[in-house]
Amino acid sequence: MTDTTSQAGTGHAPRTVDPDPDFAAQAVAQAALYEEADTDRLGFWARQARELLTWDTDFTQTLDWSGAPFAKWFVGGRLNVAVNCVDRHVEAGDGDRVALHFEGEPGDTRTITYAELAADVRRAANALAALGVQAGDRVAIYLPMIPEAVVAMLACARLGAPHSVVFGGFSADALRSRIEDAEAKVVITCDGSYRRGKPTTLKPAVDAALAKGAPSVTNVLVVRRNGEAVDWTEGRDVWWHDAVGAAGEEHEAQAFDAEHPLYILYTSGTTGKPKGILHTSGGYLAQAAYTTKNVFDLRPERDVYWCTADVGWVTGHSYVVYGPLALGVTQVVYEGTPDTPDKDRWWSLVEKYGVTVLYTAPTAIRTCMKWGEEYPGRHDLSSLRVLGSVGEPINPEAWAWYRRVIGADRTPVVDTWWQTETGAMMISPLPGVTTLKPGSAQVPLPGVAAEVVDDAGEPLGHGQAGYLVLTEPWPSMLRGLWGDPQRYVDTYWSRFPGRYFAGDGAKRDEDGDIWLLGRVDDVMNVSGHRLSTAEIESALVSHPTVAEAAVVGATDETTGQAVVAFVILRGGAQEGPDTVRELREHVGQEIGPIAKPRSIMVVAELPKTRSGKIMRRLLRDVAENRATGDVTTLTDASVMDTIRAGMTRSE
Ligand code: ATP
Ligand code: MG
Repeated sequence: MTDTTSQAGTGHAPRTVDPDPDFAAQAVAQAALYEEADTDRLGFWARQARELLTWDTDFTQTLDWSGAPFAKWFVGGRLNVAVNCVDRHVEAGDGDRVALHFEGEPGDTRTITYAELAADVRRAANALAALGVQAGDRVAIYLPMIPEAVVAMLACARLGAPHSVVFGGFSADALRSRIEDAEAKVVITCDGSYRRGKPTTLKPAVDAALAKGAPSVTNVLVVRRNGEAVDWTEGRDVWWHDAVGAAGEEHEAQAFDAEHPLYILYTSGTTGKPKGILHTSGGYLAQAAYTTKNVFDLRPERDVYWCTADVGWVTGHSYVVYGPLALGVTQVVYEGTPDTPDKDRWWSLVEKYGVTVLYTAPTAIRTCMKWGEEYPGRHDLSSLRVLGSVGEPINPEAWAWYRRVIGADRTPVVDTWWQTETGAMMISPLPGVTTLKPGSAQVPLPGVAAEVVDDAGEPLGHGQAGYLVLTEPWPSMLRGLWGDPQRYVDTYWSRFPGRYFAGDGAKRDEDGDIWLLGRVDDVMNVSGHRLSTAEIESALVSHPTVAEAAVVGATDETTGQAVVAFVILRGGAQEGPDTVRELREHVGQEIGPIAKPRSIMVVAELPKTRSGKIMRRLLRDVAENRATGDVTTLTDASVMDTIRAGMTRSE
């Protein structure tokens, strides 16, 4: 990571953007939150938990940290998570409010009110109970982005049966290993879905997974989505419409302990083999609701919210299901790809439903930049008020494009840093309060404590790059890794005893704002200089011809490591004889000569996880001429072959 104090790669992005006074005057979040949390952190969280959630039994202690790093939040409190997400809104008189505006890829739509959602969840809970699912039993959910995915998760929560959602694009093997790890009793799936205008299938992967193992599974509940033919195992397979359709609408929800397990979810696998993260009920829901409300400036009676994440990822858990529904917000759920039937599909949805708050990932924003402004330009996006980003550092150039082209240079853009492990957002500006800074996630949210430290764990001064740590426990923190308490301690709490090691590099700038620099595993050391992947990638993306960039360190005889870059050019840009030379010079100017890539390769695609993150470890395998490592969470394994073929040609 470089020693420069100025931020590299900001290109045409403004350095800072002040809150709009009109927005600030109406903002949900107030600066006083910071003060309150600084004065009495636990008192602050207790207030959030009591105000945002409905408890059957109030808690007697906010945090029990005596068994650190195993936390207990809201000790003695009891609640039902599903009741908090649906039933109580109906009881409060908001049953007619739309919970989900569902749009399928082929264009079919369903409008589901809170009252309808509550009835669906109760029926599904009855159906699962009839299959023998009881509190504590695990249920695997392998579904596309259809309303039944939300209903299934909430039905599990209602019964106190932890769910393990497995992304619908994963293979039978990935599914089997996750079912086996959690020893799930029931799998909920569907016949298939739609992708890029074509029907897909999911049930065959479940059949294949169960043929090879997973003996814990007694039943498979199958939603009919696209009518594709399915094989049927009598006695095991049950149609959702039969079971849920026949089930009664009456279901008495039980209150569970605040620490009752809510779900298991595996990380993206960007840095290695996915880890089974365990989340519990009260603290998780409290922080999910608190962050959804304040970071997105949400008022349930006003907003139409849309988070584009799949429920297979933690973002889909916290910011499609639990956070927004706990608040009683209206949201859009879209099944398909952003370019079907054309590259303006997302923007047509924003216009059609009057979306006010949009939450997506940098990879999607860069893809839209690559496609060009004409697609968003076809639609009226004036309903948008807040834009959010999550998943990777957002390059300042992409931030500026997002605000200008999607947000009409008017909306705040919130860059939210968090992880599957943290359960909810941790570092982010508050819209209307924080002066925004493109490229930086900026400040820990009120109630959250983060620091940037050196190898020895000492806090670093401004401009110095080190490791991001969280110095205090937080309500939605993971409670462990499923079935492996020691690995939890070793992975997160041993590098810097007493503090949570996030695995990300970071630095604070002169204003104290935090910049995420990429994963610690990806940091490069060139002639003794530590260089950040995020900074060099942002420098490359700030060049007008570059749409996306991935940078890795490859072993080099003279410099220890050398910077190797992979770039995708923007739509229309041609690779010329001087492209590579020009890009090297550009990085030299933006950051310094030491950061100039040794080689730059123009590619058509980058290897990404299914959640859209660049998998640098695979590019490092290419750059160092090794066989490619674990690719099970890669979107398209053939991307690696294409890159390898090109690499041989250019070197
Ligand atoms: P694995 O842990 O299996 O390697 P993963 O870390 O990609 O997978 P997630 O929990 O989905 O799994 O992602 C969290 C990581 O994503 C963070 O540690 C960070 O590296 C990155 N990240 C998320 N949001 C941001 C952000 N706003 N800015 C920078 N990085 C981010
Ligand atoms: Mg991780």
